[in-house]
Amino acid sequence: MAFSPAWAMASESLADATLQRDQILNALFAGLLTAPLLLNVVFFATLRQRFILFHSLMLAAILGTHLFSTGLLYDLVPGAMAIDSSQAVNLFLALMGFSICMLVRALCAPQKLGEIASSALLASGIIGLGSAILATIFLTPGAEAGGNLFMGGYAVMVLAVLFSLVHATLRGDRLATLQMIGLSGFLSLAIQWFINGLNGMGRAPLQDSNTFPIAVLLEVLVSSFIVGLKVWQLRQRHDDALRQRAAEARLARTDPLTKVMNRRGFMEHFRALEQDPRAPAQVTALILVDIDHFKRVNDRHGHKVGDIVLTQMAALMQQCCRRGDVLARFGGEEFAILARCGDSQGIDQFARRIKQDIAAMVFGDNAQQIGPLSVSIGVTEIDIRVDSLDFDRHYRAADNALYRAKMAGRNCIRHSDRNDVYEPNAKALANA
Ligand code: GH3
Ligand code: MG
Ligand code: MG
Repeated sequence: MAFSPAWAMASESLADATLQRDQILNALFAGLLTAPLLLNVVFFATLRQRFILFHSLMLAAILGTHLFSTGLLYDLVPGAMAIDSSQAVNLFLALMGFSICMLVRALCAPQKLGEIASSALLASGIIGLGSAILATIFLTPGAEAGGNLFMGGYAVMVLAVLFSLVHATLRGDRLATLQMIGLSGFLSLAIQWFINGLNGMGRAPLQDSNTFPIAVLLEVLVSSFIVGLKVWQLRQRHDDALRQRAAEARLARTDPLTKVMNRRGFMEHFRALEQDPRAPAQVTALILVDIDHFKRVNDRHGHKVGDIVLTQMAALMQQCCRRGDVLARFGGEEFAILARCGDSQGIDQFARRIKQDIAAMVFGDNAQQIGPLSVSIGVTEIDIRVDSLDFDRHYRAADNALYRAKMAGRNCIRHSDRNDVYEPNAKALANA
């Protein structure tokens, strides 16, 4: 049938339009594969998980298959024309099969997948990729023997993936079921291909099929979803572990009875003074507070009431403290405060306020009211600019001052002096 020139022009422009549409679709498809691939690179760089690596490898292999089978690569890189397209497609398909084997192996729960399926996936992946590489190196492109070798390896991979996914699904692995849905397009195409024995063994199994892009899309979407889910789960697990570690660390620094810091937490704060930029501008004091005759409280009201008093005492002192001050229970009925004030007078006022507030407080509960109680306080000042941050030395100074407060009849405050700081055996001297 002869075409009129108008018809010819119309059909030419129609063919042009179809070509253009195909090119756009091919480029879009390549972009669709590249996007998750780039995202995976970021994920892998931060998380270093095997499943991300194999997912990336699978996407790259699909991209390679697509570039070669559509000739898009030859448009982009004319130098690549030297590469035989059917051999390249076979190689990329084998790489895709290998990546899928390894991806399935990495994404299924190990206890659900089992050792046999796991080994089968590894072995078949290596066999599949190995046979494709051997076929490419040793056999002429398009030769039947090469096709057979390639197809044999491919069949082994398909069977291993199918077996593993069914096996894991039957054992309740939901991700395996999801993976099977993602791979269902590929699997049905492969099975269909094997059953019908279509197109001879020398050709790549899926490249001619119209449904191949749909199978690819399904797998890319589902596997990307699973990988995203896994990344999210990893993130959740990581956050949970961090939260738990923080909670454990908090617990290790907290006094279980009064819920204020314990000696360990206090020591950490003390050591951190060195790095605190505000510290040199203020007078820092180590204040030791010891409840007077606390044994009597226990003896008269019982240990449980004694515990209540200790808790209330801690809460009261916490109220007296300002932001940046640190309160800790140092054991028994002794508390320590790391306090900051503008000058020495401020420190003394702060210690007095604690003593007065405690004296004014009625402790205990509705059943038993205890008070007034008194405390003895020992104070030592630390000049961050010149003093070494040797905790033992400052503690000894404050403890000696506290001892003098007790010796002075209790219910009073004593500040450390040179003797307290430089003579560790001040207590022994006083006793002598
Ligand atoms: P001083 O004025 O010399 O400090 O006399 P004190 O009775 O307060 O001191 P002492 O060291 O003789 O006794 C401390 C008491 O604190 C003895 C102990 O039963 C009590 N205590 C220590 N830890 C706890 C605790 O966790 N709960 C209770 N209820 N009592 C405690
Ligand atoms: Mg006491
Ligand atoms: Mg004591």
